[in-house]
Amino acid sequence: MTDCLFCKMANNEIPVDLVLETEHLMAFRDINPQAPQHVLIIPRVHVRSLEDLEPGQEDLAGTLLLAAQQVARQEGFADRGYRTVINSGHDGGQEVQHLHVHVLAGRRMQWPPG
Ligand code: 5GP
Ligand code: ZN
Repeated sequence: MTDCLFCKMANNEIPVDLVLETEHLMAFRDINPQAPQHVLIIPRVHVRSLEDLEPGQEDLAGTLLLAAQQVARQEGFADRGYRTVINSGHDGGQEVQHLHVHVLAGRRMQWPPG
């Protein structure tokens, strides 16, 4: 997807504050953090949203979750805890149309979420 912001980041066309990088995904700091630590994990392939993930992409889904665990350990907040969020579609509050997992930490999270 040539006009997708996160595809451009995944292709190193736009610089990011990198946290983790593998063959299949990239993790970088959110430009507008909603917690003291706020990391986004994206697949390198363009998937519009969780709603567009297909059977056969179970490995990708699992890899994204395990990356959240790895980010938490690497960044030092695994023990205190963290929140993972995937916003999907209009009502889910998704603004960037490329699947991403938010990893938020560094403060006590609220429930219910906004
Ligand atoms: P969504 O609302 O789609 O779940 O989350 C999109 C996230 O992408 C937001 O938290 C927003 O701050 C972040 N974001 C949007 N543009 C950029 C950017 O250019 N760089 C980075 N690092 N994050 C961005
Ligand atoms: Zn994309």
